[in-house]
Amino acid sequence: MKDNAMPILRNGIRVMRGISRDLYEFINGKPLMTPPFVGGTLEAEDARRAQIWLRRREQWYDPDPVVEFEEKFADWNGSKHARAFMGGRVALSAIIHALGLGDGDEVLLPGYTCIVVPNAFHYANVDITYADIELETFGPSVDAFAQKISDRTSAILIHHLYGLVCRDYEGLLQLADENDLYVIEDCTHATGATFRGKKVGNYGDAAFYSSEHSKCLSTVQGGIATTDDDSIAARLGAYARSADYPRPRRLERLLYTLLLDYYEESHPQRWWVKYAYQLLYGNKRLKSTTDAEKKSVRPDFYGQRMPAPLASIGVDQLTKLPKYNKIRRESAAKWDRWSHNHGYETPYVLEDSQPSWLRYPLLVEPERKKDTSWAVEKLGVEIGDWFRTHLHPVERSVKGCPNADHAVSCCINLPTILK
Ligand SMILES: *Cc1c(COP(=O)(O)O)cnc(C)c1O
Repeated sequence: MKDNAMPILRNGIRVMRGISRDLYEFINGKPLMTPPFVGGTLEAEDARRAQIWLRRREQWYDPDPVVEFEEKFADWNGSKHARAFMGGRVALSAIIHALGLGDGDEVLLPGYTCIVVPNAFHYANVDITYADIELETFGPSVDAFAQKISDRTSAILIHHLYGLVCRDYEGLLQLADENDLYVIEDCTHATGATFRGKKVGNYGDAAFYSSEHSKCLSTVQGGIATTDDDSIAARLGAYARSADYPRPRRLERLLYTLLLDYYEESHPQRWWVKYAYQLLYGNKRLKSTTDAEKKSVRPDFYGQRMPAPLASIGVDQLTKLPKYNKIRRESAAKWDRWSHNHGYETPYVLEDSQPSWLRYPLLVEPERKKDTSWAVEKLGVEIGDWFRTHLHPVERSVKGCPNADHAVSCCINLPTILK
């Protein structure tokens, strides 16, 4: 009882502050509920699984649910092999290891990415060179990448941001092929996006996906590495086998964070239910990226593999992906009409591709990115403040990438799950 009294008191103070802020905003015209920003794909079944797993500690490190998730993901994605880790960033680290990249190697990265991507290369002592993006899908520009290739370049990273299949996909694959470079695909926004009928991530040497709570599916934190190459897969497997699972205290907090996401962002009555849940468990929330990580320091718990409870939720989330990706496509069509009516260029959809539409990106006036409160008022949604800098979310800029500069000041993103 004594153990519980302090957190509840502290949670209580936080909840009171939350209620007064919500009330104040409501009085000033903000809707009681805006569409979910994280965890939008979580449903009652996922919350139920989290509750059950919280009572089933003796099975937290069973391998079977993890193998099931990996096999089902590989199958769903059309990949030969998949391995689940505690983050897309960790899956990327596993891929870097599996490709044997390290001292003396150099990778070309788009100068518009998440800090955790260069971090993974930095932790492996791989040198990083940034090249510019294009402004149609915010993917790597093939011309900019071609110019930056040197004798030391070993790999390029292709991403499909916001779920749009990148404009120069074929050109980049060809460029890598001609220069004998590995292709790593960052599909953290693009789980389920296709090109020529095949899922993205199956065109390069290896790819990573994310089940972090702001991505296409949620296990709160998590990521999957895929490949069709048996020897790369064997090395991914060795990396996974030598990795730890999150320790019980951390895993418990991850499960509570998932429940908090569900009750705060996805539950049909969340405008009030969230307060009850926050009061009981609000102190358990974990952040996806620690402050140290933002400074490129490798956290102690980095490099872990996914444990059974999260894999079991992943299995359930995977069955819902087609449904949510369909909802996202319908919302994108709605935003297309809105953009059209308001004089904004709609996002570019590469021929023969189907985006996953994690978010709907738009280039708008810089004032509309600086202060996004207009969107709640006009559209009833909160706008993603992703990529206010070149290396989201840290204040670090990348030189020599004028298109990325433009996207940093003008690219906003709208939600595509509008419940
Ligand atoms: C989220 C994200 C990652 C990392 O995925 P995690 O699962 O959070 O580690 C990598 N690249 C991009 C572009 C992302 O948005």
